[in-house]
Amino acid sequence: MALGLNVPEPEETCSDEDCPFHGTLSVRGQILEGEVASTDMEKTVVVEREYDVTVPKYDRQMKRRSRVPAHAPECLALEVGDTVRIAETRPLSKTKSHVVVETVADDVTDGGDN
Ligand SMILES: [Zn+2]
Repeated sequence: MALGLNVPEPEETCSDEDCPFHGTLSVRGQILEGEVASTDMEKTVVVEREYDVTVPKYDRQMKRRSRVPAHAPECLALEVGDTVRIAETRPLSKTKSHVVVETVADDVTDGGDN
């Protein structure tokens, strides 16, 4: 797949038109990493990113959060708490202009199902 991104192709396949792997959606820009905060909407997840901002005045780090709604292609089974990578794409709806391109393997294997 000529995605232009350094991400693996999902094992599943799908017929989602807005899938960057199996549909016609093209991606661009930088890739962001975040955690899935909500899967309440159909084919949309809210990805939350936490980042540190340096406040020069006080020379301190501040934690900021941003929530980015992103399209969830059918071939990626996403759950709340998953770490994912999202890429910018054309506006998919009023608030959506990103798409999930990869689930980052969580290497915290505690075996418990909380
Ligand atoms: Zn797909």
